[in-house]
Amino acid sequence: MIHARHRRQGGAHDMQDNAAQLEPALDSYRLLLDEVGAFIYTADLQGRYTYANRLVLEMLGRPLAQVIGKTFAECVGVSALDETIDDTDRRVMHDGETIAREETHDIPGDQARTFWSVKKPLRDGEGRIVGLLGISYDITEKVQLEARLREKKTLLDAVLDHVDALVYMKDASRHFRYANQRVAQMFGLPVEQIIDRLDSALMPHEAADRFWAIDQAVIDSQQPYAAEVSLPDAAGHLRHFWSVIVPWVDAEGVQAVVGMSTDITALHELQEELQQQARTDSLTGCANRRRFFELAEIEYARSRRHGSSLSLIAIDIDHFKQINDHYGHPTGDLVLQDFVGCCRGILREIDIFARTGGEEFCILLPCASLDAAREISERIRTMTMACQPVDALPSLRISASFGVSSLGTADPDFQVLFARADRALYAAKQQGRNRTVVL
Ligand code: GH3
Ligand code: MG
Ligand code: MG
Repeated sequence: MIHARHRRQGGAHDMQDNAAQLEPALDSYRLLLDEVGAFIYTADLQGRYTYANRLVLEMLGRPLAQVIGKTFAECVGVSALDETIDDTDRRVMHDGETIAREETHDIPGDQARTFWSVKKPLRDGEGRIVGLLGISYDITEKVQLEARLREKKTLLDAVLDHVDALVYMKDASRHFRYANQRVAQMFGLPVEQIIDRLDSALMPHEAADRFWAIDQAVIDSQQPYAAEVSLPDAAGHLRHFWSVIVPWVDAEGVQAVVGMSTDITALHELQEELQQQARTDSLTGCANRRRFFELAEIEYARSRRHGSSLSLIAIDIDHFKQINDHYGHPTGDLVLQDFVGCCRGILREIDIFARTGGEEFCILLPCASLDAAREISERIRTMTMACQPVDALPSLRISASFGVSSLGTADPDFQVLFARADRALYAAKQQGRNRTVVL
């Protein structure tokens, strides 16, 4: 408006003076436009440059004089531009819209570059559109970086969702920030219903608190933690995991932990089974000799601690070799199994019944006096005689000999009690078998 008024009122000299005054200001605007870090240009209605700043000229590889009056396509030597760019320019120049969008230009001799372009219509003093003003920021690196990040995220998601482990991130306020598909399966919920939920809303409180204590220790110490943990799954089955928990601080500085838990339930069950096998006599299912002495040491210590009595019955089946020789080894096995089955009916839950040798057994009776042990021994002996161990052989009858003893106050260890019961058993054999000897 000021410019227009000057034009109407002033003469040729005035205009020259004004132009001279404006020149330094224009120089600083040009400098500003050259240094602003964006591609800035103006074009007429035919798309021919009427102004281009330094960055545009550098991109086109030409001085201003060779750019003014030419279109972008003419400058870069291509016949036609991307149709959508033509369409944008049309909308700006014909419809007067201001359009901001991403544009990709093929720059000859260079890779395609992406710009964030804002295009505005340029108007004359009467408001008629005479061209457009373009301001473009080169966002190629940003776009490439975003594409690479997207690619990495896709890869990471694919890996995390197919890795054979539960992977999650939990923040210091006990909310899940990330969960992979395995976690979703474990809780029986879609991932979206796990994110931002409290741990105690997803698992039993006891388990949530137990895990939180570990998480907190990891956050406090900033040290990783690894251990076996267990948790019931959505169906209520207890599952076992090898968990590695590492400290994490996100981009906003929020403290968190990242957990990777491998399901080792099958391994755990196998381990349990192997341990059970290592403790058990495979023929009869009762404790084996090794397990017997482990448990005996525990009972000995308990008895000493509480001053309670502890008794032992040592058993050896009479003339067992003859049974094997007469009926065969498999029948001998059936006899052993039947004997164990019959004894179980007489014993208490806390009694420890073990096969300590081929046809030798031991029964440890916590809190049982010598008299009580003698009575139990006699009950087993009577039962043994009455038993018909093999249905197919009604005439087959067995007997056994029993040595009974109790822990004395002077006994320094369990082995002393064991040796005494064994001596009592030997005496029972010596005295003619099928009897109980107490020592
Ligand atoms: P005693 O009355 O003096 O104890 O005589 P015995 O024949 O029972 O004693 P001996 O020690 O001579 O024989 C024990 C037999 O037990 C010998 C062995 O073959 C048998 N035996 C050991 N383990 C097993 C087993 O698992 N199954 C069977 N069927 N027999 C076994
Ligand atoms: Mg024997
Ligand atoms: Mg025997």
